[in-house]
Amino acid sequence: MSNREDEKHDDRDSLDPSAQVPSDIPPGLDRRKFIMRSAVISAAAVMNGCTRSETERKAPPPAAADAQPTATSGTKPGPAVPLSADLNVVKKGQGPVLTTVDEFYKVGPGPSSSHTIGPMRITYDFYQRAAMLPADKLSTATALKVNLFGSLSATGKGHGTERAALAGLVGKEPATVDPKFLDSLRDNPDQTFQVKLGDKSIPVSLKDIIYDATKGDFKHPNTMTVTLLAGNDVLLEHEYYSVGGGFIEWKGSTPPTKNPPKYPFRTMKELRTYADTNNTTIGKIMLANEMSIAGRSEEEVYAFIDKIINAMVATVKSGLAMSEDDVLPGPIKLHSKAATVYKRAMDDSYQAERGIGSLSAFALAASEENGRGHLVITAPTGGSAGVMPSLVYGLLEVRKVPRQKVRDGMLAAAAVGYLCKHHATLSAAEGGCQAEIGVASAMAAALVATAYDAKSLVVENAAESALEHHLGMTCDPVAGYVQVPCIERCAFGAVKAWTAFAIASNEIASRHRVNFDETVTALAQTARDMNSKYKETSEAGLAQSVTLC
Ligand code: SF4
Repeated sequence: MSNREDEKHDDRDSLDPSAQVPSDIPPGLDRRKFIMRSAVISAAAVMNGCTRSETERKAPPPAAADAQPTATSGTKPGPAVPLSADLNVVKKGQGPVLTTVDEFYKVGPGPSSSHTIGPMRITYDFYQRAAMLPADKLSTATALKVNLFGSLSATGKGHGTERAALAGLVGKEPATVDPKFLDSLRDNPDQTFQVKLGDKSIPVSLKDIIYDATKGDFKHPNTMTVTLLAGNDVLLEHEYYSVGGGFIEWKGSTPPTKNPPKYPFRTMKELRTYADTNNTTIGKIMLANEMSIAGRSEEEVYAFIDKIINAMVATVKSGLAMSEDDVLPGPIKLHSKAATVYKRAMDDSYQAERGIGSLSAFALAASEENGRGHLVITAPTGGSAGVMPSLVYGLLEVRKVPRQKVRDGMLAAAAVGYLCKHHATLSAAEGGCQAEIGVASAMAAALVATAYDAKSLVVENAAESALEHHLGMTCDPVAGYVQVPCIERCAFGAVKAWTAFAIASNEIASRHRVNFDETVTALAQTARDMNSKYKETSEAGLAQSVTLC
């Protein structure tokens, strides 16, 4: 792959048309014609006043947290559930990025990190807190109740939120729960389980998970409460928030204290500068930060990354192994198609069709696994769980790219996801599908670029391009099930990631006119301005226009 960068060009006077002509002429082009054409384009740019001044070009990119939009007439209504300013997920953009890979890449049951993995983690967390109450209090306990609010209530049924919440209450964790247990709750919803707290056994069933108000004055659109009762008396109650990507918070929570990163960064520009000045890659800078923040050795970080890579490969394999006669759970009656798309793509006589078709099939395979409620990997979420595995599978299993390059790619992809989480959101309930598939596609573009040894600017440009072309994408799952448009959307996210890499690795990198930090700012602003009906509520878009027979 060629990386036609011209770093020197970035520091030249943008108002001088001759400065717009790159010193490197792309192979295969006549130099004279190329310079003439570049000069004409540059002159037009100068005349139109669209080149940036030197000052502008050298100014640090605005961080989303510093550039919050103000309401103007004509803007669409903001979210019905504005995020509370005291949530950590809102305050986070002020300091350096401190997220670590084990917090970010999570294995758990589909179909939604915020509606299944998050709620399961929440009820599991509550169960552990309740178990620490004094024995005399526990001896009076009679019931456990979970109340779901906002988007968790509006679309929770389609996501299986009540089953996930019950599983956490009875002591199941997302990474190790057997999906068959969740299937059994769906097939036999009247089952009752005994939750042991001290000497007391408290009966719980799906009836104890209550779909409560969908609208109200919540701190976050994905709000839930968990309560331990003694008759009508409350022994313990916590209000929790599933803030996207399986991350959770609770009322009054403070983020855990962490070690400082070796290379503190808040923006892609700062991260890329560390990579460039240390003559290394974004992946290696991220590795150093993982080691310093989490206090882990290089072997430990890579061992975790390998676990995630292997899980991604496994999810694609399981999805491809499903018959086209398999029907996904729920009212849509959607047939599996990953295996069919893969087989037919492989039979195509055109190599390009085989490539695009197989990449799409890998994404469909992992995403259909998500739709089945099987174990998937948040990258960054369950709904987008087909995108990264598609590229990981393609690189490792098809192109036979060395594993070490894929590991570095996973770390660069994580950096992209961290920055989106830090300055914008990974939650469709906050920002629509651009925050899920858009971020996943940007991560995947960074993964591929890194795996092919692209320079850091090309990695940034690829991620930027993929994210840019998902801005504004809404979340409107039909019947509240993470299937339509989600499954095919993962395939498009994967193909767009490859397209972004193809463009970024073949353009003159320093001429890329939008930087990643600016696009994350746009993601945050678009999320804020998006009509709440398009934020995982199933109140609009395809969720309204598609008729199920
Ligand atoms: S439409 Fe996008 S954001 Fe919404 S549930 Fe589907 S994949 Fe997730």
